[in-house]
Amino acid sequence: MPGRIDFQRWFQEARFRSPLCGFSEVRQLIEIRKDPLTGRLCRINVERARRPKQSPVESEEVKRVIQESRGGCFFCPENLEAKTPKLPAELGDRIRVGRATVFPNLFPFGGFHAVGVFSDDHYLPLDRFTPEMIYDCFSACIRYFQAVSRHSPQARFWHISWNFMQPAASSIIHPHVQILAEPLPTPYLDELMARSREYMEKNGSNYWRDVVDAERGGERYIGRTGKVHWLASYAPQASREVTGIVEGVSSLAGIGEVMVDLCDGLSRALRGYHEMGVRSMNFTTFSGPSDPDISEFYWLNVRLISRPAPAPFHISDCGFMERLHLEPVIEVLPEDLASWLRKLFLE
Ligand SMILES: [Zn+2]
Repeated sequence: MPGRIDFQRWFQEARFRSPLCGFSEVRQLIEIRKDPLTGRLCRINVERARRPKQSPVESEEVKRVIQESRGGCFFCPENLEAKTPKLPAELGDRIRVGRATVFPNLFPFGGFHAVGVFSDDHYLPLDRFTPEMIYDCFSACIRYFQAVSRHSPQARFWHISWNFMQPAASSIIHPHVQILAEPLPTPYLDELMARSREYMEKNGSNYWRDVVDAERGGERYIGRTGKVHWLASYAPQASREVTGIVEGVSSLAGIGEVMVDLCDGLSRALRGYHEMGVRSMNFTTFSGPSDPDISEFYWLNVRLISRPAPAPFHISDCGFMERLHLEPVIEVLPEDLASWLRKLFLE
């Protein structure tokens, strides 16, 4: 029953005498929204959100950095064999599917931390990641997880994450995902699963099904690709946050051919981002354990967020509110984001 989802929001009014209009008094509305599952807050300055969006200038500096990084790139085909690590012998060598290759991370922050390179292309803008290209890469990631699980079944939490370009914390331009198989969920994933279980105990229904039903056809619903529903998050934790919800599946281990739907939607959302002027982004999956299946109360979901466009001395989108107080300031209304992206999901 959609009625169980509690979309809470309230407003603050800021009053001041503005130098922009002869020191007469102006008022600005700040909207505070609460995530219906986690209770996390975000604040949206509606005035800022409605400012006309500037398209980024493709700076010559950024083009030069991309060009210069080509020489000596470890992920380019002429270096990949010689310069990237191989898996431990029991897991094979490197994993290849189509044009994608998975190999261990040279500087891991987890026991099972690998890299998935999409293709030979040293640089691609966000509108050039086809569903097939993403599918090959994510399928290679799943093969890695399956190989890890055979030897280390405790590594039950599988993550596929993608930092795109430097403002999103990518140190290497050549497009790649980072994948981890972990014995414990990250704190945020743990929170999502715990709140979903509580929701089921309280309401007798699945939060994710309820939120899809509540949002379907509404102003934040972007569209669906097969069994994956795409929403502009009601209370985003970062700019232009898009959530993809995988119907009836609790983990990457159980996704099977629904991966095609996931990659189709992700490709569309990335094209939409590009059209909106986004040039840097983060993506991640929030996957329940590979075992057991917890789809009764939790569905696999993925998020993507935009980051500042690459430019010398760009202004970070993470300040004290985002990094220390965990209450992000959002500049794009989720409803505007959905209306932007919706057209990409109609074809
Ligand atoms: Zn390269």
